[in-house]
Amino acid sequence: MKPIRILLVGGGHAHIEVIRQSPRLFNGLNTELILISPEPGAAYSGMLPGVVAGHYSVDDFLINLPALCEASGVAWHQGRFESLLPGRRAIVLAGGDELEFDFISFDIGSTPATLGYSLSAHLLGAKPITPFLQAWDHFLAEAAGNSGKVVTVVGAGVAGFELALAMRYRIDAGLGGAGCRWQLVSSGALLAGHNAFVRRAGAKALQRLGFDRHFGVSLDRVDSRAEGHMLHLSDGSELRSDFTVLCTPAAPVQDLGASNLPLTRDGFIPVNHCLQVLAHENAFAVGDIAQLPSPIAKAGVYAVRQGPVLAANLRKVITGERLTPFVPQKTFLKLITLGGQQAMASRGWFYCRGAWVWRWKNQIDTGFMEKYQR
Ligand SMILES: Cc1cc2nc3c(=O)[nH]c(=O)nc-3n(C[C@H](O)[C@H](O)[C@H](O)COP(=O)(O)OP(=O)(O)OC[C@H]3O[C@@H](n4cnc5c(N)ncnc54)[C@H](O)[C@@H]3O)c2cc1C
Repeated sequence: MKPIRILLVGGGHAHIEVIRQSPRLFNGLNTELILISPEPGAAYSGMLPGVVAGHYSVDDFLINLPALCEASGVAWHQGRFESLLPGRRAIVLAGGDELEFDFISFDIGSTPATLGYSLSAHLLGAKPITPFLQAWDHFLAEAAGNSGKVVTVVGAGVAGFELALAMRYRIDAGLGGAGCRWQLVSSGALLAGHNAFVRRAGAKALQRLGFDRHFGVSLDRVDSRAEGHMLHLSDGSELRSDFTVLCTPAAPVQDLGASNLPLTRDGFIPVNHCLQVLAHENAFAVGDIAQLPSPIAKAGVYAVRQGPVLAANLRKVITGERLTPFVPQKTFLKLITLGGQQAMASRGWFYCRGAWVWRWKNQIDTGFMEKYQR
């Protein structure tokens, strides 16, 4: 009999857990799993600041998807999802390949909102991670040969804060500072949503490192120049910048407008509490691309926690059992790195910092990677 085909679209944090569990999970069911993702490496973004700072190599934070699939008996298909085919249980990939399915799940992530700027190697989002890391390596080489470069981070949430400090650390440690100037621009407050101790410690770190801070202003327009570019802010000021990284709020990883999937106004895939796509009972969506009935933060922590629920529900939907709802935690512990091997911990009113917090985070992150490295 033809196996029941499950397509996993995207090698995100939830899908890697489904793949890891799949030999046990689908034992006794006649299933065929296929993972579709554009790149063989899936990045664990919690370690991105550490890679940028030079504490880890790129290999340390990339999960080898073909190897993980092979170890679990899952087929690996390199490709990029484009759309569902109307009236059929099939998808089409960029380039035209078609794949049929019985059940499908989407875990394709998000990217910082790029607000319509034309992106380049000198102005780009922190995700997708591969082009960002290539641009960062290129900039490091440029900064080594020319002093006085200006680096700007747009967005002062955890991702923007951590990346700003990580880039600064790398240039200070590797290039003796290279005479760089540092700027942080954000329409919101620094580390908004965290307690006052965390925000104060963050502000002190930026001040100590001499960051020019522009808070309460947004980036209106960018003029590209032969040398760097000019950032026009909503308060009328203009900032020169040679390397600008956008860490703005999460937007869908691609425009899914022509995908034949239902979409929220922001372009995410709406799901019910059991992670099923609305009006598509044989489809699931998880991680940043999914929007629950009560939206939650776009954070890897939630994508990771959705993995076991999705795995259980993929089995249950086949066996006809009642699906399990995903119940997100209201708060979670955040370990925020400070460039060097120092970090602070934040949860509710809890705050602490030190080298031991960095080692704690390092243990959690490397433990996560070990679970999926094959
Ligand atoms: C600098 C930075 C630091 C961060 N640090 C943290 C942190 O410490 N803790 C935390 O909880 N969150 C953190 N985040 C947020 C975190 O990155 C995301 O919430 C998390 O990666 C989302 O996981 P995901 O499973 O939705 O997707 P991802 O992990 O982004 O995976 C998506 C996958 O889908 C693939 N894909 C994309 N498009 C397609 C397509 N069309 N077809 C097929 N496959 C596709 C991609 O190649 C990728 O493999 C950070 C974000 C940034 C930018």
